[in-house]
Amino acid sequence: MFYSRYNKLGNEFAVPSSPNVFEKSEVLLINEQLNEDSGLKWQSSEVLNYLSGQTALPESESVSLAYSGHQFGHFNPLLGDGRAHLIGSFTGKAGAEYDIQLKGSGATSFSRGGDGLCALGPAVREFIMSQAMHSLGVPTTHCLAVLSTGQTVYRQGHVPGAVVARVARSHVRVGSFQLLALRQDPESMSELLELCINDSFEDITSQGEERVFAFFSRVCQAQCALMLKWLQVGFIHGVMNTDNTLVNGETIDYGPCAMMEGFSFSRVFSSIDSQGRYAFGQQPNMASWNCARLAESLLLLCDDQENAIERFSKSLAEFSETFNQGYRRLWQDKLGILDWNDEDQSLINELLELMTTHQLDYTNTFAGLTAHTMNMLQEQYPLSEELDAWLSQWTARTEQYSEDAMIERMNKVNPALIPRNELVEEIIGDFYRNGASEQLGDWLLALKSPYEYRSYPKKWVTPQSGTTQYQTFCGT
Ligand code: AMP
Ligand code: MG
Repeated sequence: MFYSRYNKLGNEFAVPSSPNVFEKSEVLLINEQLNEDSGLKWQSSEVLNYLSGQTALPESESVSLAYSGHQFGHFNPLLGDGRAHLIGSFTGKAGAEYDIQLKGSGATSFSRGGDGLCALGPAVREFIMSQAMHSLGVPTTHCLAVLSTGQTVYRQGHVPGAVVARVARSHVRVGSFQLLALRQDPESMSELLELCINDSFEDITSQGEERVFAFFSRVCQAQCALMLKWLQVGFIHGVMNTDNTLVNGETIDYGPCAMMEGFSFSRVFSSIDSQGRYAFGQQPNMASWNCARLAESLLLLCDDQENAIERFSKSLAEFSETFNQGYRRLWQDKLGILDWNDEDQSLINELLELMTTHQLDYTNTFAGLTAHTMNMLQEQYPLSEELDAWLSQWTARTEQYSEDAMIERMNKVNPALIPRNELVEEIIGDFYRNGASEQLGDWLLALKSPYEYRSYPKKWVTPQSGTTQYQTFCGT
């Protein structure tokens, strides 16, 4: 049932490596729906034994993957899984392939002085965020479980250690291709290309170099779609390095990520992103930049370099075009404007300026407009007074439309509920104190239907209080 699908790339790409055995491990969190839907259907003893390293997955060899990466613009030739073990892959329901990867499962040949471990807090964050993002409709890797290791790790002090078990359609990053380009290894790169086409872009039928161009074009489109989704829900990844960019367009590595509250295109949460390279509004540019790094790597598979550069540039230009169309459509949908006229751009700009100036909450502002269209009570979804004048313009602009048609558009893109940063932190605090959180269950359940407009506990829908800006640290 399990197999190793990266081994055919050789053991310099997929380095055999066993996870630590954590004998005192306990399962703290499990995503039962994923366990069911993926087709795994593990009993609780299997979850514990396989994910704590106590039992190896049958017929599979555990590996750590090698990759390069541009980290904040600087090329690092060899990164690799410094604290992760890909213990195996399986074919789930409807023939979809999944990898199971443990993170925080011990040192590997890529640890570079790191301890190979993961603290409980970031593990809990990844579990909550990936589940919430999935329910928000954002392509993402999944988290099957979080286990305590029964050991401590040293960060700002001693804290409990954890293992995150990730289930994902692929673990191939832009950095994976960069590594093979650096090694001048076209055979392995062709293998990797086939593996990616097989798991994510199966409908590509062209052959030869056309196959490479088609693949690149699809990666660009997948990244573009992902960026529009991040913008739609206000997600800030924080560390969009090429080694954290999957070619299949799913979100991976929930390290210093956060949800935008007070609106600003230049919003940054991560303490390490002092230059704002990965600020909220910069993310699409950075995704395109990462795709360009993939194109450079793929040149290794092309004979006619000039022609290849032209073809890759065309796909990058299409990224911009698709993005611009999607971007306009996004704001149009968020505001329930059913057909575009030239003055709409200034209506949108005015709103975004007001939101930036008064630091209005991104989610609640658009949820407020949606609830307003639904004729819901103001108390549940209050709109800021600062929007009053703008609101009359918007009402005048949209009065020609039926409410139902507007609601249909708006409801799809304006969530009522998001994983609020402060609540995530509070729950992490609960886990550090008690190894569990009583408030998580109900919240996670509600986060499964984030587009449902109803009355929620105040704490779930209130942005961070006080003036201190929420800050996240690298998810180690
Ligand atoms: P990230 O940006 O968090 O995905 O990590 C960048 C690189 O650092 C990857 O190669 C990770 O495997 C490695 N890394 C992060 N944390 C640790 C750790 N605690 N021990 C060893 N390697 C780590
Ligand atoms: Mg990473």
